[in-house]
Amino acid sequence: MFVRIDGGQGEGGGQVLRTSLSLAMVTGQPFQIENIRAGRQRPGLLRQHLTAVQAAAAVCGAAVEGVALGSTGLTFSPGVVRAGEYHFAVGTAGSATLVLQTVLPALMLADGPSRLTLEGGTHNPAAPPFDFLERTFLPLLGRMGPRVTVALERYGFYPAGGGRFTAEIQPVERLAPLALGERGAVTGRRAIGLVANLPAHIAEREMATAIAQLEWPAEARAILGTRNSNGPGNALMLEVETAEVTEIFTAFGEVGVSAEAVGRHAAGAARRYLHSTAVAGEHLADQLLLPLALAGGGEFTAVALDGHATTNMEVIGRFLPVRFVVENCASHVRVAVA
Ligand code: ATP
Repeated sequence: MFVRIDGGQGEGGGQVLRTSLSLAMVTGQPFQIENIRAGRQRPGLLRQHLTAVQAAAAVCGAAVEGVALGSTGLTFSPGVVRAGEYHFAVGTAGSATLVLQTVLPALMLADGPSRLTLEGGTHNPAAPPFDFLERTFLPLLGRMGPRVTVALERYGFYPAGGGRFTAEIQPVERLAPLALGERGAVTGRRAIGLVANLPAHIAEREMATAIAQLEWPAEARAILGTRNSNGPGNALMLEVETAEVTEIFTAFGEVGVSAEAVGRHAAGAARRYLHSTAVAGEHLADQLLLPLALAGGGEFTAVALDGHATTNMEVIGRFLPVRFVVENCASHVRVAVA
């Protein structure tokens, strides 16, 4: 029996498809999805989503129908998950970190270690930047058991792409539940201005704006200039470290957007986080739901839940017998999985 998924539900983006792929691989349940990315300007499978489907199919020997660029519906019938060496290339600047996140749940519960090479975008707007994966998401996953380490080989920005990183996955038989209460004291903060093949003053202006708004000390600034990228690229990453987590708030430079606007954008997200007592910012919140659901329990605090999170809860509930309990507290929300 196919699980039937409406790809246009809620947020109506690529995550509905990726979560379905991840959970089909782990649970062995086939699914049929329609209206893929109906909530987006260009609906259907883009290169990133196509690569995610192909990667998922390769890892679990799935039978798939309807998979083509632009396709708005497909069926996916998983086989057996095989740990091993894999190489997945998006072929454009589309996010390669999202491709990793698609196959990670199955490989972190597989019967042996895996080594993946991923190519495409490593720092994309609307996707987890490589740094967020490395220092925010994967350390938390590590506390649930699996050891996943990533290494950046080349930066990939839109539109040139060409980024590359590896991931080593040491799986576990089952995930331990994660319980994250309110956030403790801030132990570190950094404003990292990343510029690839671009002048350093862009990053300097972004960092200056952000640290002025956040009233962070000048020593919190760290410029990261690189030529190890096919094209130009720029991002400002604001890191807030506590005992529980290192959260990273990223804003991307764009043609026609001033460095000061990029600085204000990232600072706004960091400030909302610092005003709350939550462990997870909004992005981390929607990404923690799936591992917690697979563990069958756990809880965390989040600044707020956005459309990605509520949609992800609905999709997860179609594959796993879990219930999410959301409690609104004074300066955060508490999410528990039962
Ligand atoms: P679409 O092109 O359909 O919008 P998509 O495939 O890019 O979709 P979304 O459904 O929008 O995917 O999901 C994007 C994912 O990337 C979400 O899990 C979101 O939390 C995460 N994400 C977006 N921006 C950031 C960021 N700055 N830091 C960390 N994670 C992020």
